[in-house]
Amino acid sequence: MKLESVELKGFKSFAKRTKIKFDNQITAIVGPNGSGKSNIADAVKWVLGEQSAKSLRGKNMNDVIFQGSDDKNPMNMAEVNLSFENKDRKLDSNYDLIKVSRRIYRNGDNEYRLNGKRVRLKDIKELFLDTGIGKEGYSVIGQGRIDEILNSSSQERRNIFEEASGIATHKYRREESLKK
Ligand code: ATP
Ligand code: MG
Repeated sequence: MKLESVELKGFKSFAKRTKIKFDNQITAIVGPNGSGKSNIADAVKWVLGEQSAKSLRGKNMNDVIFQGSDDKNPMNMAEVNLSFENKDRKLDSNYDLIKVSRRIYRNGDNEYRLNGKRVRLKDIKELFLDTGIGKEGYSVIGQGRIDEILNSSSQERRNIFEEASGIATHKYRREESLKK
C-alpha cells in the first residue's frame, strides 16, 4: 500500500488544480521559502481528519481555503484527494486504488468521501487504523514532532507503539463495543 498522489484544488496556496504524483520510492519536494512545501503535508493531514486549525498553521478551518492573491480571486471551496494504491490489500477494502477526499466550503460545510461516496470521518479513521497513516499516525512527522515524541508522557508514547505494532484496531474495537 502506498500514497500514489495528492491532488489539491483551492487548498491554501494551491489555487489551480495541482496533482503531485509519488512514482518512485523516495520523493523530495524542494522549493524556496513560502512556496508551499509544508502546505502539501498539511493537505495530507487535513484529508485524514485533522480538526485543529492550529495544527494546520491557521486560525480557523476556513484558512485552508485559497484566500486570493494579486492576480487571483479568493475561492469558495478547498478540496484535496489522496489516492492510495492498495494491491496488497493492506487497507481493508476490495479496491486496488482508494481515493480519499475532503472538501470544505466557506460557509463551513465539510465533506469526506471514499471513492466518491460520502462517508463519515469515522469511516476514514477505521480504514487507516494500524497503518500508521492518520493525523496521529507516525507516517507524517512534522517539524518539532521528534522533540514532542521524546518529551511525551509514557502513555502518549505507548499509543505510538500500539499503532506501529498493529494492536490499535483491537483496542479501538473494544472501546467501540463497550460504548454500545
Ligand atoms: P518553508 O521553506 O519556509 O518551510 P514552505 O515551502 O513550506 O516554506 P508553506 O508554509 O507551505 O511554504 O507555504 C506558505 C505560503 O502559503 C505562504 O506564502 C502563505 O501566504 C501561503 N498560504 C497559506 N494559506 C493560504 C491561503 N489560504 N491562501 C493563499 N495562500 C496561502
Ligand atoms: Mg515549510
